[in-house]
Amino acid sequence: MPSSFSNLQLAEPLARAVAEMGYESMTPIQAQAIPVVLTGRDVMGAAQTGTGKTAAFALPLLQRLLKHENASTSPARHPVRALVLLPTRELADQVAQQVKLFAKNTNLRSAVVFGGIDMKPQTAELKRGVEVLVATPGRLLDHIEAKNAVLNQVEYVVLDEADRMLDIGFLPDLQRILSFLPKQRTTLLFSATFSPEIKRLANSYLNDPVTIEVARPNETASTVEQHFYSVPDDEKRHALKQIVRQRGLSQAFVFVNSKLGCARLARSLEREGLKTTALHGDKSQDERLKALAAFKAGEVDLLVATDVAARGLDIKDVPAVFNFDVPFNAEDYVHRIGRTGRAGASGLAVTFVTSNDNRLVGDIEKLLKRKLELEALEFDEDRPRGRINDGRRAWREAGELGDPRDVLETQRDRGPRRDQRPAPAPRDPFFDQPYQATNIDQAPTWEQATKPAAGRISANIKTKRKVAALFKAAG
Ligand code: AMP
Repeated sequence: MPSSFSNLQLAEPLARAVAEMGYESMTPIQAQAIPVVLTGRDVMGAAQTGTGKTAAFALPLLQRLLKHENASTSPARHPVRALVLLPTRELADQVAQQVKLFAKNTNLRSAVVFGGIDMKPQTAELKRGVEVLVATPGRLLDHIEAKNAVLNQVEYVVLDEADRMLDIGFLPDLQRILSFLPKQRTTLLFSATFSPEIKRLANSYLNDPVTIEVARPNETASTVEQHFYSVPDDEKRHALKQIVRQRGLSQAFVFVNSKLGCARLARSLEREGLKTTALHGDKSQDERLKALAAFKAGEVDLLVATDVAARGLDIKDVPAVFNFDVPFNAEDYVHRIGRTGRAGASGLAVTFVTSNDNRLVGDIEKLLKRKLELEALEFDEDRPRGRINDGRRAWREAGELGDPRDVLETQRDRGPRRDQRPAPAPRDPFFDQPYQATNIDQAPTWEQATKPAAGRISANIKTKRKVAALFKAAG
């Protein structure tokens, strides 16, 4: 297995770009995946972000596109030949930036489309023609509907962070998008875990894939010092500040379970003088990218984030990760603390556990296959006691139930209780369909592919019309 990029015999423009980016030796996923993708085989890769998986699929994909490079500048001659799908805008942006860097010495064009921003500049770029398109599913469908994107010449499709795309509910969108692609193609699927759903997705859309697994998904890095502190809900904020101070932490990620909790915690930490930024789905695209850039530039100390907003963000060497809330899914615990202790560096992962979290902690224990020790946190003597907290304590001490408004807020913040959450959706019959490889000539034509027929696209138009009507009615 070659470990140096020079052993790969990459095309000169790609080799030069890799050298300019300072990459010397390949990461394990790169060493395993690149030679396979170069042969055109389908790949099912289990790799978490931070393992170098973007280069693992992008470099061999670009190398294969270069082999048949098209010199024409006509858009028709620059059809989309590689499509990379990702669950979030930040991830799409990050991957697109990396693809641009890898391809910068070539004539291959790339573009990224994601929601939350104006479609017009994206449309102009698509109309000029791009070979590599990086996209989030919803916005890509909008562009297909608007006849800006034609996918019937796609030779490579990458489903990156596939588990998260399913978690978010993108399966119908993925099915729709994949229906526009030629069946004769290379499909690469990357996922942090190989859950039964991911395996079914792979069975349906991958053709005899090579499975590559570089780190067992349920493993946490041994260099991460993990603590589980028993902390009452109303003491978590103080506990966070105390640990940041005692440990002299310069930066940390703070995970919360809800958008509302995220915004609220960031605001209150900011008020207390900590440079804090919130990263959640309700923020505009511009705000999210700015938040990320500020954290990367070291202008922000604490990035308070929800799982969806933070998944896969390319932030290395964060000294500490706090689970302000115990995650609802045990696997998210592994993803969250994977931000620290990377590449042999030591890291700190602190989880605040309240009396309501026993079951969730049990789930993490099952996943990690070990007992977790719950520690008591010694609070500073001089910790400030806010009016509300003191009030709450007084209620409790007086044997009262507590402020009903608190109960409401807490429940709204943390989402429905486990036993009150809706039952999982019934199994999707799509998963039972076998993968059918057909000839590229049988792929849908441009007209067929862009016809706004039944399904998601027409639903999309209907929803947009409804929303427009509502806005109009509201003046
Ligand atoms: P990824 O897992 O693709 O998001 O990559 C994580 C980070 O590692 C990115 O900042 C990459 O630029 C960097 N990276 C990827 N491969 C290598 C490599 N072989 N050597 C050094 N850095 C790398």
